[in-house]
Amino acid sequence: MTKRLGVLTSGGDAPGMNAAIRAAVRAALDQGAEVYGIYEGYQGMIDGGNYIRQVGWGACGGVLHKGGTIFGTARSPEFRTRDGRRKAVRNLLLYGIDRLVVIGGDGSLTGANLLRQEWRELSQELVAAGEIEQSVVDAHPYLTIAGLVGSIDNDMYGTDMTIGADSALHRITDAIDAITSTAASHQRAFVVEVMGRNCGYLALMGALASGADWVLIPENPPNLDNWEEKMCAILSEGRKMGRRDSIVVVAEGAQDRRGNPITCEMVKQVLETHLGEEARVTVLGHVQRGGSPSAYDRVLSTLVGAAAAGLALAAGENDESMLVGIHQNKITYRPLMECVKKTHELNDAVRNLDFPKAMELRGKNFQESFRILRTLIRSMPHPPTPGKERIRFAILNAGGPAPGMNAAVRAAVRLAVDQGHIPVGVFRGFRGLITDNLEEMEWMSVSGWAPIGGSELGTSRKVPSGGDFYAIAKTLEKHQIDAILMVGGWAGYQSMLRLYQERANFPAFNIPLICVPATINNNLPGTELCIGADTALNSIVEVVDKIKQSAVASNRCFIVEVMGRYCGYLALMSALATGAERVYLHEEGVTLKDLERDIGMLKEGFEHGKRLGLMIRNENANPLYTTSFLSALFEEEGGSLFDVRISVLGHLQQGGDPSPYDRILATRLAAKAIDFIEDHYRKGEADESAAAIGLLSGNIEFTPLYEIPRLVDEKTQRPKEQWWMELRPIARLLAQPGPGFHSHQM
Ligand code: ADP
Repeated sequence: MTKRLGVLTSGGDAPGMNAAIRAAVRAALDQGAEVYGIYEGYQGMIDGGNYIRQVGWGACGGVLHKGGTIFGTARSPEFRTRDGRRKAVRNLLLYGIDRLVVIGGDGSLTGANLLRQEWRELSQELVAAGEIEQSVVDAHPYLTIAGLVGSIDNDMYGTDMTIGADSALHRITDAIDAITSTAASHQRAFVVEVMGRNCGYLALMGALASGADWVLIPENPPNLDNWEEKMCAILSEGRKMGRRDSIVVVAEGAQDRRGNPITCEMVKQVLETHLGEEARVTVLGHVQRGGSPSAYDRVLSTLVGAAAAGLALAAGENDESMLVGIHQNKITYRPLMECVKKTHELNDAVRNLDFPKAMELRGKNFQESFRILRTLIRSMPHPPTPGKERIRFAILNAGGPAPGMNAAVRAAVRLAVDQGHIPVGVFRGFRGLITDNLEEMEWMSVSGWAPIGGSELGTSRKVPSGGDFYAIAKTLEKHQIDAILMVGGWAGYQSMLRLYQERANFPAFNIPLICVPATINNNLPGTELCIGADTALNSIVEVVDKIKQSAVASNRCFIVEVMGRYCGYLALMSALATGAERVYLHEEGVTLKDLERDIGMLKEGFEHGKRLGLMIRNENANPLYTTSFLSALFEEEGGSLFDVRISVLGHLQQGGDPSPYDRILATRLAAKAIDFIEDHYRKGEADESAAAIGLLSGNIEFTPLYEIPRLVDEKTQRPKEQWWMELRPIARLLAQPGPGFHSHQM
């Protein structure tokens, strides 16, 4: 018997839900199931009729860029009643649907599990009442549930990220950036309220990403009874040191240690009374929920959506309801009710003022981010601890510019100064070290750097060689440099490796050498993600959305060329996020046979009503089958069926203000890089004192530089192992034309 899967969205909507729907529907169709869209959440399940409709491959085409949910969502008080759920079971049985993918918050997922538990009982009641045949009930003895968390608040235990949280963070960061610029012009204080009744994730990460001055979250209220005075003292201190604006971010559910709410209006009053200056309140409200999903949300939703469909179709009678989430970049499957229970425990801890427990349940990253933020917002560094050694370290950018480099330098400088150290900024990468172009930096040198793209210190691709080492050693000795912190890409890593390899000849290099990965190409060893790649991905996705819209009137195939050098990360991820039907990677190569097959696919598609084709090509996918070659080939072979247009995205991918994720990653890595320098100070000659920092399985790890030659392919300048290569089958599956489908929408 063909399996029938129902897909629904419920509760509050969240950007990315559509990508999850698309992936769940298509992955299920690919496995031969029949798929039904259940419209308007549980209310549609109860009302049945037109609210439950079979959907095909094309029904969820062209939706990746849309916010909200194409299946609609609703709150259904009726579903909370047993009678309501009985109606729902009746409808599902009428359609033969006994597998569900539910996308919603903890309420919706609890409801789904309840339905599963009551399934048999309610079915029997329906038979007894003569509403359903026994044979129908016998054919569908149980209900299987795969849950996905759609919630902008990132408030669910059991997944590192919920669908929509990253997009909301984009909206918040954009808004605070905009407010910061006007606040600076008028020397004003702003109080910004962001969503999150129990969960301070958006407030905390929004503040961290935008460089705000103070944050109030429900899980960790300010410690002192006189927090108002402390906050104002810090803000006015900041003013004295040259800041022109003050931004306080308040989570919707902010409270004090006694559980009294702290509202924006209260904060405004406090600022006006204590600082004697005008303060403005901005409540971001539904802006945070709206808009096009970010690249990350599209990819995340696609991966968990497809996995949820697979799980719901494979599950048997005794399998409990599962939650499909993500942990450390990998899809996870956890018992749904356990996650709901932990989520409620967390919410209870917040309500019962058990703040240590609330922080503990939020996890390591949240705690660490809170600690970093605390240090970063202090406008005045701590006085150096007597007796503690003050490390003078050089800090520089190297390689191509990457959005987020400034955020990393800012965080490193501030955290180091806070610990009594002395950062020395090097201008224009290793050139600056060769030509002695350095300057001490202090707390305010990096004021306002968090949101700026490019590199304020200046960067270059210069890799030192020959006499350069002598010049660098001289500079280091002259400035009494105790460590080097390099934030950059491939050329930066090569340069640091050379310094390490020259240690025997130049004792000045026997100091901690630490590399922080920053390149849009995401091609560095020792890390799964580099600072800048997320921003570039978002830039690509935005442009491709526009390109797709431009093609409404004609039959057209676009070939979009993206950067990445020999690394296909940007190409593959942007294909996943935009629904491109073909992606050309250097890792896979391009053969004539591939191209023939692609032309066949395009022709068949356009013959059957397809209007738009989208292929994404990595800039170095193949040296001879260039983007122009592909275009000429497709154009000629496509005849009158379709036109071909090229779009080479170029440097817009390297520019732009860093995404919230890149700013946060930059800040976290920089903080740990400073810890590394402290740990290895005075042990400079040890091999382990030269390392690259990075994210490995979600943790921040160090890879010694001597390991690097073994980890990379020198010729193609990329790591030998690339985790994201595993995602190729899913990209291929979702973009294929689809069984029996001929309107070919992406
Ligand atoms: P969210 O899913 O975003 O947490 P809600 O808590 O409002 O949003 O839940 C959405 C819908 O899910 C509700 O309107 C109701 O139909 C259903 N639901 C929520 N909680 C339960 C529950 N405990 N039992 C049955 N249904 C529930």
